[in-house]
Amino acid sequence: MQQMTTFKPTVLVAGGAGFIGSHLCEALLYRGHRVICVDSFLSGLRENVLPLTNHPGFTLIEADVTQPLTISGPVEQIYNLACAASPPQYQADPVHTMLTNVLGCGNLLELAEAKGARYLQASTSEVYGDPLSHPQNEDYWGNVNCTGPRACYDEGKRAAETMCFDYLRQGRVDVRVARIFNTYGPQMRPDDGRIISNLICQALQDQPMTVYGDGTQTRSFCYVSDLVRGLMALMDVGQAPEGAINLGNPGEFSILELVDIIRDRLPGVAQPVFMALPTDDPQRRQPDITRARTLLGWQPKVPLSEGLGLTIPWFASQVGAEAPTPVRAERVAARSMAR
Ligand code: UDP
Repeated sequence: MQQMTTFKPTVLVAGGAGFIGSHLCEALLYRGHRVICVDSFLSGLRENVLPLTNHPGFTLIEADVTQPLTISGPVEQIYNLACAASPPQYQADPVHTMLTNVLGCGNLLELAEAKGARYLQASTSEVYGDPLSHPQNEDYWGNVNCTGPRACYDEGKRAAETMCFDYLRQGRVDVRVARIFNTYGPQMRPDDGRIISNLICQALQDQPMTVYGDGTQTRSFCYVSDLVRGLMALMDVGQAPEGAINLGNPGEFSILELVDIIRDRLPGVAQPVFMALPTDDPQRRQPDITRARTLLGWQPKVPLSEGLGLTIPWFASQVGAEAPTPVRAERVAARSMAR
């Protein structure tokens, strides 16, 4: 007799083959959902979802969200993570980045309305631009240069937020908006150009780490499993929060501190080289996650040291380098505990 598999509600993940999207698809399948992954593969990778393709609840659709999407059957939840998130990648085709954020959000909100689905928009800490308020809470309106090279992403995400809250105010879609701060972990592309991937891959390949500017600028880094838990908590919460919700790890590190932490884990790496600071590079960034704590009962659990320990072997496997041996990792862990 053929056995029937029963699934929880169907979830569509746009950008599901990307770094965060692929972790989200996996977590949703694990929780028993049927998952429809939509990706254009412009920055997402087939390899990220390859292990999921044998799962009976997983469907992969190659499509660009700038075009209207037709999906047959019910869809109960839509996560929109479709957009390149690394500055070099989203600046490579800035007009497409803007359209992905604006048209993509519009097309997916239309789909959500048609299906009666709950909708979660992946927004970004970039809506705060180069912030004049620190740490950033959701009431801060931001300091974004609307004509600069980052604007295609920053303003695209801001416009997407606007559209989400208009749909919400009009009672058309149950919308949630997550402002995602810097996130890292396995399945990041080694060539994506962001700080964690660049520094680790450079260190693993005995190249000097590249520091843009003087390295005093700060970022707050959230391990991907924490972030995915936060996204799911925001989607699941009964009442849609009134505004956007910051999701990130409040631990704030300068780029020079990050260089030192990675050098501790991968000793013997050359001195960093200093390069020009990109235009409009934000000087500081740290999430105030009071709202996420209060409304979702969510906070990150994985400290940077632990997250890097889980991420370095991933990059080592990607660049064909030797990962730190357990003995070396233990020695480093003991050293950092002694501090
Ligand atoms: N950065 C750096 N070296 C690199 C890549 C990035 O010093 O090889 C800096 C970059 O200028 C920024 C910070 O690291 O100040 C974070 O950059 P990333 O591209 O990861 O993300 P952002 O938060 O700027 O979107």
